[in-house]
Amino acid sequence: MFKINEDYLKLPGSYLFSTIGKKVNAFQDANPDKSLIRLGIGDVTQPLVPAIIDALHDAVSEMGRPDGFHGYAPDLGYEFLRSAMAQNDYQVRGCDIKADEIFISDGAKCDSGNIQEIFAKDSKIAVCDPVYPVYVDTNVMAGRTGTYDPATEKWSDVIYMPCTKETNFAPELPKETPDVIYLCFPNNPTGSTISKAELQTWVDYANKVGAVIIYDAAYEAYITEEDVPHTIYECEGARTCAIELRSFSKNAGFTGVRLGAAVVPKDIKSGDTTLHQLWARRHGTKYNGAPYIVQRAGEAVYSPDGKAQIKEQVGYYMNNAKVIYNGLKEAGYNVSGGVNAPYIWLETPTGMSSWEFFDYLLEKANVVGTPGSGFGPSGEGYFRLTAFGTYENTVAAINRIKNI
Ligand code: PLP
Repeated sequence: MFKINEDYLKLPGSYLFSTIGKKVNAFQDANPDKSLIRLGIGDVTQPLVPAIIDALHDAVSEMGRPDGFHGYAPDLGYEFLRSAMAQNDYQVRGCDIKADEIFISDGAKCDSGNIQEIFAKDSKIAVCDPVYPVYVDTNVMAGRTGTYDPATEKWSDVIYMPCTKETNFAPELPKETPDVIYLCFPNNPTGSTISKAELQTWVDYANKVGAVIIYDAAYEAYITEEDVPHTIYECEGARTCAIELRSFSKNAGFTGVRLGAAVVPKDIKSGDTTLHQLWARRHGTKYNGAPYIVQRAGEAVYSPDGKAQIKEQVGYYMNNAKVIYNGLKEAGYNVSGGVNAPYIWLETPTGMSSWEFFDYLLEKANVVGTPGSGFGPSGEGYFRLTAFGTYENTVAAINRIKNI
């Protein structure tokens, strides 16, 4: 009889958003007359901007011509997109990242889940708590996290770095030395950021202890404040310790189109082996490339029209963030995030757990959010709302919350 990968069985419960989905469906079935407003899942709602649609149409037409047809994409991505990213995301900021250090993928979820494969099985990972669940769950699947304690909701072999009000929603350097450190700024779920000087501390620490930072920059486009770094490569020494993950989902609305990238500088080494060489091998073996038409759409994100149009779209969501942030403050909630990120993180009223507040908001305001505890034990007592709804729904949701 075949044997399964038993590490999969260690994963507790179902994925956060499927639990939310079940609760919401049950509520809707019992209350068919109520109209729900969903500010829970981090999915975008606005259509693709014209520059991207035009690029898609052009690429589709090209694929229908004998001289324009493209088969398998190059393993690591088309040169036109890798160069556009190297130049616009890095070189204009003075960061030394070259096109051949960028690996095009179909999104940051896959990259953030797959990247752990190139590290030893006994590597110790450190994660922020609360955290985007993919980092921990994929290490569980790989058998790297030890045993799960349902009482503390923690894995025995994972280093947790609490990010709460007490730490200004930023992690502190861990006491135990990790091999791989996952950082995500602007942060999902708390919406927090750290300054360039703070990020430099992490880079210095990683270089000192010989750790690698996986820096998830999926929300980079939402940064509005001056001192917040747009990429970890703004920090000195990041080329020897940091992999950066990029996504086109939140800056350009590609959640259903699918495009992302991992930046693996050639200077990160273990002995004579570079992580670049391992990731290239992994990518070439297990991945056959993002579609040509999608990579052309990604290129359009960096055209003058594309840049202006997506900036406006991000501005639309950030205006929603302001509506949520200010509205909740007026309603008496303690709120953070929402300034450099599309996520607003609020403290649940005294005595109410994250899931109790979820039920309360669903029943009293017919608004769906995400319980903070779903992102890790230190998320208990917090709740996440997203700015990705339409403006009209966002305003309506906040009015409903104010009127409870
Ligand atoms: N990383 C973080 C922190 C996210 O919040 C998300 C999506 O919500 C992703 C990655 C996934 O991005 P993508 O759509 O590119 O797979």
